[in-house]
Amino acid sequence: MFKWGIKLRLTISYLLLILFTMPALSGYLLWYFYQHNLEILTSSLLTHAHVTEHFLENYMAGPNEKFQIDQRIKELATKTDLRVTVINHTGDVLADSWENPATMENHLERPEIASSLTGQEGSSIRYSSTLGQNMLYVAIPIRNGNEIVGAVRISSTLAAIDAGFNQIKSTLLIAILLTSLLAILLSIWLARKYTAPLEEITAAACDIANGNLDRRLHVRTGDELELLAHTLNNLTSNLDDKINETIAETKKLDLILQHMDNAVILLDRYGKITTANKMARDIFDIKDAMLNQHNMQVLGYSQLDRGVQQTAKQGKSMLIYLKTNIHSSIRVFQIFIAPITTTENEITSILSVFHDITALQDMHDRQSDFVANASHELATPLTTIKGFAETLLDGALEDSKLSFKFLTIIHTEAERMQRLVNELLQLAKLNSHEYRQQVKLKATHVTPLLYTVKDDLRTNAEEKKITVDIQADADPIVMANPDWLKQILINLLDNSIKYTPPLGKVLLTCLQEDHEAILIVEDTGIGIPATDVPLIFDRFYRVDRARSRNAGGTGLGLAIVKFIVEMHGGKIEVKSSVNIGTTFTIRLPLA
Ligand code: ADP
Repeated sequence: MFKWGIKLRLTISYLLLILFTMPALSGYLLWYFYQHNLEILTSSLLTHAHVTEHFLENYMAGPNEKFQIDQRIKELATKTDLRVTVINHTGDVLADSWENPATMENHLERPEIASSLTGQEGSSIRYSSTLGQNMLYVAIPIRNGNEIVGAVRISSTLAAIDAGFNQIKSTLLIAILLTSLLAILLSIWLARKYTAPLEEITAAACDIANGNLDRRLHVRTGDELELLAHTLNNLTSNLDDKINETIAETKKLDLILQHMDNAVILLDRYGKITTANKMARDIFDIKDAMLNQHNMQVLGYSQLDRGVQQTAKQGKSMLIYLKTNIHSSIRVFQIFIAPITTTENEITSILSVFHDITALQDMHDRQSDFVANASHELATPLTTIKGFAETLLDGALEDSKLSFKFLTIIHTEAERMQRLVNELLQLAKLNSHEYRQQVKLKATHVTPLLYTVKDDLRTNAEEKKITVDIQADADPIVMANPDWLKQILINLLDNSIKYTPPLGKVLLTCLQEDHEAILIVEDTGIGIPATDVPLIFDRFYRVDRARSRNAGGTGLGLAIVKFIVEMHGGKIEVKSSVNIGTTFTIRLPLA
């Protein structure tokens, strides 16, 4: 993997250490040995020189004595291997144990002689071409009183020291070679030993980096590597825990997202759709292949695209309202658009949450309509009342006939207003969730109610000569509030009487079928056109506004009926034919 692995580096380092220190140590030892031997030899030669100097003291006095020196020196030297040379103060050789002094040149230039003639001990090592060997020369001055009269020089061959030196040198060389070989093997072994756990840690780290978070290390070196392995193990398990936590969190979020009632669409900062939850896919028909396409291509709402662009640009969340036509039904959404940012506040994507407020909008519209309708319904009789009251005040009061007529109209209109207000109050009551929970339901016989209602509206029917018949084959009992149940029958019978021409017939029927009580109000009246039938239960809806008004209708009766029926868990149906008659059928569950 690497050109220079730690193992190779360690091996080379060990080798370099050994290969540099061994020769250095050996070199120092050799040098020390040589110097030591040389010192011993020098000291021995000096001793010899002093003895010879002492011996020569008497011979240096005059020329006759000097003549004898050579002979004496030669005799003396036969006892040793040493060469003895005597030189006078001018450098001429007076005697030499190995050579004839007459043939020898002046020795004043020899370093050891030069220094001895100045009164000091001198020594020098030189190669002797005569002997073909290295020689050690030691010279001391010969004194006559305080005067230096010459010098005595003792020299010895260095062959013995050189031979010893060479022998130690070759022994050391062999030792170095053997030790180096051993050191190479040892350094390879050591490098392997120390790098094996490192290699294991490296392999494990690579494995972990590749996603194998189950990998654990078992290094038992008792040093920093064991600590490193332990730390890596901790790091991996922490990472594993964190990843598992993140996965669980992501799954949770995904689950929430997928099962949210709101459509959620995630876009990138350029407006491309990256994710859409189930609701979004269902509502906007988003297929997998459409992901990663621009929202304008997939959804085509420029208002949304503008919102996304603005959020991506400004980094601020916003609310927009979007009216759509999906599969030919109008839907209104309140869309929350927010940027999703990194910790460095960089926008990575845009979140859009669609709240379907169609029902809310509808309710809002209906409420507005209701207020407008109620105001209108109340305004009409009020205008009439005001108008006739003003006319009376303007003088019509004088005319008793006219004033009776106007007061009757005012009274009728006031009654209408009262009825309207009463019915509005009833509706408001029925609309209130709290009130509906408070309403007490009890087992109620239905048939007697038919007779009560017929009785209550007897005058109305008689005025128009309408026959009201009751056909009660059964007396079912339902769980109901008797007052509200009676209100249903009053409203229906009242309508039948109102919208049936004189001499017509109304039939009230009560049946029991399976688990239901069935109430039928049937008349031979003017009927309702088919196009109006689905709308008659709407508040303030009237087929013929003028006819209804004349009949004293408010347009709220059937809305109240439908409310009460549903409150009791029942259903209401209507069948009608124009100029033939209308049939309302109510089904209520039995108690
Ligand atoms: P209203 O107070 O005008 O009668 P309702 O809500 O009771 O209001 O009825 C709504 C409309 O349905 C009436 O205006 C009328 O046009 C029609 N309608 C109701 N009942 C009958 C019926 N039995 N025969 C014909 N038309 C009816």
